[in-house]
Amino acid sequence: MQTGILFARLVALVLDNVSLYASAVREIAERERAQALLQESEVRFRQIVENASDIIYRTDIKGRFTYANPAALNMMGFKSEEEVLGKSYLDLTTPEARHKLKRTYDRQALGRIKNTYYEFPAVTMNGEIIWVGQNVQLIMEGDRIIGFQALARNITQLRQAQEALLLARDQALEASRFKSQLVSRVSHELRTPLGGILGFAELLQHETFGPLTERQNDAITNIVESANYLTDTVNDLLDQAQVESKSISLHNAYFDLSDLIEKISTNMSVLADKKGLEFHTEIDSNLPAELYGDENRLQQIIVNLAGNAIKFTRQGSVRVRIAASAPARWSLEVRDTGVGIPEEERINIFEPFRQLSNSITRENRGSGLGLAIVKQLVELMGGEISLQSEVGQGSTFTVTLPLIHAPGE
Ligand code: ADP
Repeated sequence: MQTGILFARLVALVLDNVSLYASAVREIAERERAQALLQESEVRFRQIVENASDIIYRTDIKGRFTYANPAALNMMGFKSEEEVLGKSYLDLTTPEARHKLKRTYDRQALGRIKNTYYEFPAVTMNGEIIWVGQNVQLIMEGDRIIGFQALARNITQLRQAQEALLLARDQALEASRFKSQLVSRVSHELRTPLGGILGFAELLQHETFGPLTERQNDAITNIVESANYLTDTVNDLLDQAQVESKSISLHNAYFDLSDLIEKISTNMSVLADKKGLEFHTEIDSNLPAELYGDENRLQQIIVNLAGNAIKFTRQGSVRVRIAASAPARWSLEVRDTGVGIPEEERINIFEPFRQLSNSITRENRGSGLGLAIVKQLVELMGGEISLQSEVGQGSTFTVTLPLIHAPGE
């Protein structure tokens, strides 16, 4: 009986040890498998980092390199990682950039800023300067910062392209300034002799120097028309050059709106009559009798729009309507029953020298500057211009302007 119990205990002991042994073996196998997986993943990540074309490196908290991938070594001209380990990142920049570079990363560490982007010049082992753009993150161990890791890229070509673009832009601006100055000077010089030609031609036309034959009269009429056209073009060129160079300024004062419309109406009605068109003007009674603004420039805007409306209308009417609009704004609307402007041309016609390629445009002489000047003047006044049109039905140009009060009121 005793032997039986003993035997049973012995069997239990052996069985216990066997299961203990089995679980130990299992644990070892699992640990080995975990280690193998870890190694595999480390190899995978190492491969990514080592084959990356971007620069990847790490430093300790003092900025001394602890790792640099082959792309980094290659870009900087190091033969092996050992050459760079222990060196400070500050040794690899220009003396001028060093202070700012240090401040950037001191600030990142102090402010515990997770990620920064910074561009700086790096000096390679053979003395070449290259521009580097880098994202830098803090390496943390719990709460403690133990270093920096960076993902960087050689951006020299990008910077060169950006610099070339800036230079090209500056040169284009300079050329445009020069062109505006030239146009402005030439137009000024042309205006004086043109005034003389027109003045004397008109004296001849009015027979101040003696009676004219019919042929002489025809010739003088031609000279006056051409001189008038040339004067208008020169004035447009001068205005365009001035708005472009922003040297135009407004001369605001109070003016009587009905006086202004009356003046415009007298001249425009003559032109409309010649073409058998009706010409109407209308002022909204809700508007104050006196407005504050640059009367001459407003006249120029209305004359340009109404002049176009008459030019590009073969039959029907042209209407100018001045009205109060949305709070503290007023609008002037020029509506015609003319040829209309196709949709695809509506933005372009406000650009200098743009004209439509229809027959009515070819029949009428024009510089293609009127609408460009109108738009820029309207914008200078703080307003906007819009256009509704239907081909064959007519066009409506609407200018909306702020109702302004004299300064100090
Ligand atoms: P210009 O009248 O000297 O040609 P603008 O800048 O005033 O120059 O006008 C540009 C072009 O827009 C005109 O040549 C014409 O083709 C078109 N246009 C302007 N106003 C009208 C209008 N009311 N109706 C139809 N076409 C117009």
